[in-house]
Amino acid sequence: IKKGLSKTRNVFTGVANLFTGNHRVDKEFLAKLEDQLLLADVGTTAATSIVEGVRKAFIDKEVGKDVMEFVQQKLRELLADPSEGIRYAASGPTVIMIAGVNGSGKTTSIAKLANRLQSEGKKVVVAACDTFRAAAVEQLTVWAGRIGCEIVKQQQGSDPAAVAHDACEKAKAKGFDVLIVDTAGRLHTQTHLMRELEKIHRIVQKQIPGAPHEVFLVLDATTGQNAVAQAEQFGKAVNCTGIMLSKLDGSAKGGAIFAIKQKVGLPVKFVGVGEQMEDLEPFDPDGFVAALFE
Ligand code: GDP
Repeated sequence: IKKGLSKTRNVFTGVANLFTGNHRVDKEFLAKLEDQLLLADVGTTAATSIVEGVRKAFIDKEVGKDVMEFVQQKLRELLADPSEGIRYAASGPTVIMIAGVNGSGKTTSIAKLANRLQSEGKKVVVAACDTFRAAAVEQLTVWAGRIGCEIVKQQQGSDPAAVAHDACEKAKAKGFDVLIVDTAGRLHTQTHLMRELEKIHRIVQKQIPGAPHEVFLVLDATTGQNAVAQAEQFGKAVNCTGIMLSKLDGSAKGGAIFAIKQKVGLPVKFVGVGEQMEDLEPFDPDGFVAALFE
């Protein structure tokens, strides 16, 4: 995670610097703490809850490193994810649907995830259900070739639900462990897009009991609070179960992870830290917070 965090860590030094030497926790200190947390993009909900916690525990006290440890503990708690890792099917194929707007890094994230699962020995097939965008199917085909995983596709403009249907049939018949379903990143309108996601969700559910086992939303870390807004929108349309946060390596706004968790209630499951297929890491809240303050 360290590799992907240099820019976000720079921003968090603003928070860390508040804790050098000894301080009296007064109104001014709390205001500074809040400012620095907001500058680090953690969002108002997380910032307020941390500042309140510090106020209750330390107001009018002389403090040193203990308050820094307190803040780190709070940050870890804010990110805690009881459902850790991917939820797999008890038997038969596990279906993972992937949503996200064009440009978010959706295709690359699918490729990275497929690669990761294959390297764990799982048999993976991807379904090219983003049939709306000209390049989407081609791009996914290129990645599938590189990774050496199967792909189910039809020509551009075909019915995404039909592709999803075929992919489910293939996954069941050929004993695939994981089916990763790409979905459209943009349609004529937002309503169209959300309806299509719901439709694919229904098809998959009908074909494979218990599916989709996960619905991951890909968000671009460089967009900060905008990513939070997108998560809220998608969250309303489909039952997302987790976030894949791409481009963390190019972003100073990784603090948005806290805002996503607080406002949308979705845990970050994976982070993208580069453009290659190996550049995906499972998200570890404790490691993330530790790396922010190194
Ligand atoms: P899509 O339109 O959502 O499918 O986005 P793509 O997967 O095509 O990615 C858009 C651009 O972002 C491409 O140039 C990718 O190489 C780049 N990208 C995706 N993920 C990452 C990442 O984790 N780190 C970096 N640095 N670039 C990324």
